[in-house]
Amino acid sequence: MCTHHIATINYLYNLWEDSAPDHPKSSLIIETDVISIDSNNIHYIIWEYRIASDWQSVSNLQTENWIPMVCVIQYMRVAEQTWPDLDSYVNEESLAVVPLGSTEQHGPHLPLATDHLIAEAFAHEATDRTDYLCTPTINIGVSPHHRQFHGTMWVEAPVFRDYVESFTRNLAYHGIDRIVYVNAHGGNVEHLREVGRRLRDDKTLYAIEWMWNESIPKLVDDLFEQNGPHGGPKETAMIQYLQPELVNNDRLADARDNGLTEFTDDNTRKFGARTYYDAADNTENGVLGDQTDATAKKGEEMFESATEQLVKLCQWLDEQALSDLMPENHV
Ligand SMILES: [Zn+2]
Repeated sequence: MCTHHIATINYLYNLWEDSAPDHPKSSLIIETDVISIDSNNIHYIIWEYRIASDWQSVSNLQTENWIPMVCVIQYMRVAEQTWPDLDSYVNEESLAVVPLGSTEQHGPHLPLATDHLIAEAFAHEATDRTDYLCTPTINIGVSPHHRQFHGTMWVEAPVFRDYVESFTRNLAYHGIDRIVYVNAHGGNVEHLREVGRRLRDDKTLYAIEWMWNESIPKLVDDLFEQNGPHGGPKETAMIQYLQPELVNNDRLADARDNGLTEFTDDNTRKFGARTYYDAADNTENGVLGDQTDATAKKGEEMFESATEQLVKLCQWLDEQALSDLMPENHV
């Protein structure tokens, strides 16, 4: 089952709990899911479910407990649409979500795709819930600080800024006037902020950067003792939840023992100055934090909480008058 389906099932579970509080989450059993595309390029997921009083009693269920249910979800992935079908979107809506990540080393246990998989999962889930437009994912970001490790890919910071700016300008050309950059790579943050500033200063549009873990700082802190800024348990938990087949769980202790468990000013600064530039300056295997603290359950909790934040951010942004989002006049 792909990432997106796991996330959607969780969304249905939540809907189910809201509408049928007497039947807890464990009473909803997804039997089938079928995806089809109709002539309007709308995707449907058709589910059947049954109610069990208790998850353990599945085998004792009688057939009359089966209830067919149709759940319709309209996806707005821009790359999956035809151009005539997009007309109504740009006429009525003006918000787009842009997922961005990196392709860079994430230690011995996580795939190079970690950041862009996370960004894409959030962007897809939030736009599936709201029907805002989601653009294709930008998979390669600013990662020269991971270059000593095999497979890390990057573009120079000015190239990245120009690329994102140019790409965002063409969204503006199509009628988009507000954007959320859904980001999962720390190295992109300052550059996305800079691009957002340029575009707002010349009143092209309003674009803001959203980094998933910054939307739920307290939860991340509560869940992990040593969360590590890179390749730590928070990213590990997220991939364990989203794409478990890509995590090398047998290397978690190794990731912790050959990395830098505790990332503090004491071991990364001298007299107030940051003395390092590359991940390799601080760690042998490229990662930080205690990876053995990660579980898919924690990943799910973070995914749900941060998705909620992202959905609220998009809705808030959509409600604002454009003039309120533009720079103030000179005093
Ligand atoms: Zn990462």
